[in-house]
Amino acid sequence: MPIDATQPYDDENIFAKILRGEIPSSKVYEDEWAFAFEDINPQAEIHTLVIPKGRYVSWDDFSAKASAEEIAGFVRAVGHVAREKGLVEPGYRLLANVGQHGHQEVPHLHVHLFGGHPLGPMLMRR
Ligand code: 5GP
Repeated sequence: MPIDATQPYDDENIFAKILRGEIPSSKVYEDEWAFAFEDINPQAEIHTLVIPKGRYVSWDDFSAKASAEEIAGFVRAVGHVAREKGLVEPGYRLLANVGQHGHQEVPHLHVHLFGGHPLGPMLMRR
């Protein structure tokens, strides 16, 4: 079920538990600002999730409230993971779902990193 992206941050969401190490994940990268791990239900050959360490529900919350340092750290981490995975030359796709229409299911900001093969057109036709 997609979430309401205007809700307050819930410390019991699944990605908060992954960040605290309460639930296992397949870690790809970690630094002061971000944590990256493999999606449990991959939609492409490479499907990695990158999340900020701060308590942000969505891209909206993050872009409105995060500090310049947090934003820079997170964006750099996404780029770092893509480079580490060798995705720059073949190309890749980033996606951040927000709220109901975006079909966001987990209420902690995450950027999906897809790659490993041609990904096709961006959106299904309506
Ligand atoms: P959203 O629809 O919120 O943008 O995407 C949530 C993503 O989180 C989905 O691709 C889903 O497969 C992934 N996911 C949900 N629960 C877990 C989990 O416990 N571990 C991992 N690694 N990924 C999860």
